[in-house]
Amino acid sequence: MVQYIEAPELKERAIEIAKRFNLNYIDFERVHFYRYSCDTRTCAKITGFFRTLQLIYPHIKPFYVITFNNHNFERVSKKDQDVTILHELLHIPKNFSGEFGKIAHSEIRRLSKDWIN
Ligand SMILES: [Zn+2]
Repeated sequence: MVQYIEAPELKERAIEIAKRFNLNYIDFERVHFYRYSCDTRTCAKITGFFRTLQLIYPHIKPFYVITFNNHNFERVSKKDQDVTILHELLHIPKNFSGEFGKIAHSEIRRLSKDWIN
């Protein structure tokens, strides 16, 4: 089974990136960062506590979990790591609902590359 390890250093980096790009709607108390290692092509992934899950747990506030696959994440440059972090943050909508924004994935990819470069 894949083991997930909390990654406070990635959270620190994400907070800096969010400041730089004015993503001030992100509540980092409710965004959790983890690393894992797996031989897949995934570099990073964001999961949200979305609405249908909130039906069952209405007392829990929306949150997000971002996981980074060391297997790929540690192979790219620091700059590309930052692009990846920003990319995942851009999936979080301004209303911080636990859902994902309506912004197209291709647009997120474009923005995160443009902004960091
Ligand atoms: Zn994405």
